[in-house]
Amino acid sequence: MKNIITVVGARPQFIKASPVSRALREAGIEESIVHTGQHSDANMSDVFFDEMEIPEPQHFLGISGLTHGAMTGEMLRRIEEILIAKKPDAVLVYGDTNSTLAGALAASKLHIPVAHVEAGLRSFNMRMPEEINRTVTDRVSKWLFCPTATAVKNLENEGYRSPAYQIENVGDVMFDATLYFKKKARWPKELPASLQAKPFVLCTLHRQESTEDPKVFAELLQALSTIAREMPVVWPVHPRARKTMEVRGLKPTGLHMIAPVGYLEMLALLDSCAIVATDSGGLQKEAFFFGKHCLTLRTETEWVELVELGMNTLCGHSVEKIKSEFAIHCLNSGKTAAASPFGKGDASDNMARLLKAY
Ligand code: UDP
Repeated sequence: MKNIITVVGARPQFIKASPVSRALREAGIEESIVHTGQHSDANMSDVFFDEMEIPEPQHFLGISGLTHGAMTGEMLRRIEEILIAKKPDAVLVYGDTNSTLAGALAASKLHIPVAHVEAGLRSFNMRMPEEINRTVTDRVSKWLFCPTATAVKNLENEGYRSPAYQIENVGDVMFDATLYFKKKARWPKELPASLQAKPFVLCTLHRQESTEDPKVFAELLQALSTIAREMPVVWPVHPRARKTMEVRGLKPTGLHMIAPVGYLEMLALLDSCAIVATDSGGLQKEAFFFGKHCLTLRTETEWVELVELGMNTLCGHSVEKIKSEFAIHCLNSGKTAAASPFGKGDASDNMARLLKAY
């Protein structure tokens, strides 16, 4: 393989693209990046390109803020134009967003092979837009780069063993990113320096399933405010959650609510916190990388290994459950798990080697 087009658009994809882009460069594969614009604010996009040595996108599509269908359709149309003009050897997509789905569909219909990073993850909840995006993307991809043995098993259970697919358990690219950038971690300026030495909860919330239903979102905010009476809660607020609070006039009290932070700041927060509370997929794993317990504010997780290892508790959306699990786990930091299901931190190199051989 000589050249590849990578489609990214949302924050976690920038983070995953950083180690992979480096590995592709080192393997001598020419990469052009298409940024769909799904996330384009300075603190949701630029900061990651600047701090994480990600090559400047060659195409910026500026597509955001539309309904799922309109957004995916517009991305599909625009990505197809680029692929027809550039004729890459392959297209690389990450995770489970509308940008992932649009990139995979545009490429597969042009018979350009697709490499899917984070293939095989399943929540088994088809009401989640992410689950729809990832299952369809897997189906039309050639390289299914799985982060864990569970992801491989999920694909096998769906009958994926066929010569049309190359299923590889390469390890988790987010582990590569954490290992590489850990040394550069930086405490966020918006927070008092004194907080760093105290136990605190690191929280994020961004999913449609957390914010859309007014009862669920109100319950989650109440849980955070209740916890904050016992331990400071630091919450870098995602634009979707901020907007929902503005529209509904919600003003949770007692929380350190700050704007989204860059990855280096996030690593400092992960390193110093006592416990993580989140609905994020990526943050559940990062909590594990730092030996912190994660209270997952959802009813299911794609990262079932973490629950099996006792490092992650599914709390759903109930104030009572979140409060009681917090009480059990809040001072458990520095835990080490019996196993490390996410590989050795060489997922990016593994993928670059497999793609190069094509
Ligand atoms: N993250 C970040 N700044 C923030 C919040 C999250 O850099 O203010 C990082 C986080 O450390 C993780 C990634 O963003 O690496 C997770 O992204 P997100 O929660 O948006 O998506 P998901 O992982 O659920 O797909």
